[in-house]
Amino acid sequence: MQSLIKSLENKNCIKIVCGAGNKNLDEIEKLIAVYAKAGVKFFDISADEDVIKAARNGLARVIPDNELHNYHLCCSIGLKGDVHFRKAVINKKNCMGCNECIPACLQKSIIKSHNCLQINKDKCIGCAKCSDICASAAIDFEYNESDELAQLVKQNISCIELHAAIHDSEKIINCWNYLSNNFDGLLSISINRKHLSDTKLEELLNRIILSRNHFSYIIQADGKSMNAGAEDFKSSLQTIALAEVVNGFNFPAYIMLSGGTNLKTPELAQLCGVDYNGIAFGSFARKLVYPYISKPEFWNDKTIFKNAVNITKNFLKSCTIKN
Ligand code: SF4
Ligand code: SF4
Repeated sequence: MQSLIKSLENKNCIKIVCGAGNKNLDEIEKLIAVYAKAGVKFFDISADEDVIKAARNGLARVIPDNELHNYHLCCSIGLKGDVHFRKAVINKKNCMGCNECIPACLQKSIIKSHNCLQINKDKCIGCAKCSDICASAAIDFEYNESDELAQLVKQNISCIELHAAIHDSEKIINCWNYLSNNFDGLLSISINRKHLSDTKLEELLNRIILSRNHFSYIIQADGKSMNAGAEDFKSSLQTIALAEVVNGFNFPAYIMLSGGTNLKTPELAQLCGVDYNGIAFGSFARKLVYPYISKPEFWNDKTIFKNAVNITKNFLKSCTIKN
């Protein structure tokens, strides 16, 4: 835990987000092995026992036992209504079978079988790229709500993150208070501006910090979620704008940037004079290694693993935080 706090205090914490709703165990194990080998020590995963096991397997493959204590897992939990925890569902009545959605899904979650589309829910991360492209409005979403808090707080993890991008502030506060009273590690609250004005956000955060000691929690400024495909400034514009607002609140909290983050994010933050303690990289980081981890011979071919590690090392070097 100390090493995690230290990286936040040093303002160079990097977190790789495996996908809050991602339950693709094979992918998670590979992603974590590659990024851990490249030097990342903080990983965000979904709050699921099998996912936690897969994450630990990924670490154990590349990190010696006596160093594992320096690597940290953060489990993300969602309340109903949060986009990070939704899964796509095909509305068969509306679907005209154009197949446009299949290549749009970077997760390869949409499968055609017997002339019928199916969603692999373990792979789906709720990014909505399929529904954005669907001209027939044939893709809906169902929301998964994590209701296993009591089990989760018993897991040996360093951080629990509550995704609070919903209307119901009371629900968020109740959940946060439960975690605050029952979990010893770091807490994180991921916020965005979708439902709350800046004033309402400040009110919500003010109520939340009542239960926490100074610097025992992270505020994650989540800009445009699951939107870091391009290496441009625009993708993380919303994140930087929200972090600037959070800077202005002056809470005794660590600030993480997330949502649309890519290798341009540190530069944009610096240009805008925005202060932060770390960056969470999600879709951008995952997309970078997909060509390698999707190969069936990934574990057996050392060159594939080495190339994946090298490309991630270059990415991490180029986005060194100059805060
Ligand atoms: S894009 Fe829409 S209409 Fe076309 S196959 Fe996919 S779900 Fe059906
Ligand atoms: S495009 Fe996104 S939301 Fe749609 S099926 Fe694929 S992962 Fe799920």
